[in-house]
Amino acid sequence: MSAVSPRFRSVLDKFAPYRPGKESATSDGRSYKLSSNESPYGPLPSVLKVIAEAAGSINRYPDNGAADLTEAIAGRYGVPASHVAVGCGSVGVAQQLLEAVAEPGAEVMYAWRSFEAYPYLSDLASATSVRVPLRDEALDLPAMAAAVTERTRLIFVCTPNNPTGTVVHRHELEEFMGRVPQDCLVVLDEAYSEYVRDPEAPDGMTLYRDRPNVAVLRTFSKAYGLAGLRVGYGLCGTEELRAAVDQVRQPFYLNIAAQAAAVEALKHQDEVERRVTQTIAARLEVQDGLRALGLWVAESDANFVWTRLPEDSLPEADVIHGLVQRGVLVRAGSALGREGALRVTIGTHEENQRFLTALGELL
Ligand SMILES: *Cc1c(COP(=O)(O)O)cnc(C)c1O
Repeated sequence: MSAVSPRFRSVLDKFAPYRPGKESATSDGRSYKLSSNESPYGPLPSVLKVIAEAAGSINRYPDNGAADLTEAIAGRYGVPASHVAVGCGSVGVAQQLLEAVAEPGAEVMYAWRSFEAYPYLSDLASATSVRVPLRDEALDLPAMAAAVTERTRLIFVCTPNNPTGTVVHRHELEEFMGRVPQDCLVVLDEAYSEYVRDPEAPDGMTLYRDRPNVAVLRTFSKAYGLAGLRVGYGLCGTEELRAAVDQVRQPFYLNIAAQAAAVEALKHQDEVERRVTQTIAARLEVQDGLRALGLWVAESDANFVWTRLPEDSLPEADVIHGLVQRGVLVRAGSALGREGALRVTIGTHEENQRFLTALGELL
């Protein structure tokens, strides 16, 4: 019998099948996952407690408007609740923003290499991707401004940039925004904002306020350690934008446990800050350790480091393989568009040392 299939959208052919990271474990059974920029720290006891409590009412739909969480975010940053759009991860909010502004034929611009979700989300929205190459591993904002056309509907500015970890500077971003037409949405993706220490870096929370065509994306997946629950949010420059983002979402999109956990996590700024400070100290150690091994390292303001192997080193694939054998998972540069590079997430002290030792053995 011949196979019958529905006819799929041609855009699906573009998407590479999802390949989960290789599982690996050393002979002592340990594995060190430094490949997804997650927090190495487990959930706070109080967060676990509210999730358990929330579980008692999962026969009910969640609050459709996520009012408590929206208010908590607004209170935390001193912004109007009418600007806050929560979603299924900040990627979920990014998708909603695209659905709100991009039609087939629209152009969506982003730097490249940058976050791998941008091309995927743009394709899915039937928009045309316009990719502007990085300069010295950092966003080239003047080149991006020059590439704007009347069809450009949305521009992603990822700062710190994934996978390079570099930030844009406030003055160059303000200049850039001055050049972007008012009817084009600029989305500042600040997934790693808590880890930023560069005093020249912009703060989306203040920057978006008097700019109606700006939205800022933040997430609970990184510094707040809730990646498994999928909660992110956007700050929208106007109530109209926030309303548009709301129009394109599914009802009851944020589950009960996720809403409760995020509200609780926001109450523990001291602990979040303590963990972030540890990660930043470890980031310096890892950068120093890599340089001591002769690797070039990009300035990072995130919870990961982007590094290039020496010219005369083992090929990248052999390094990745050797790390996997030693139980250490990192992201290969070739998977991120740059052969001979690695992106390594900052983990616990033990994990970082394990990574540096393993790499030292290989080089
Ligand atoms: C990790 C990451 C996010 C977070 O995505 P969530 O959907 O909130 O988990 C967003 N943007 C960038 C650039 C990231 O690296």
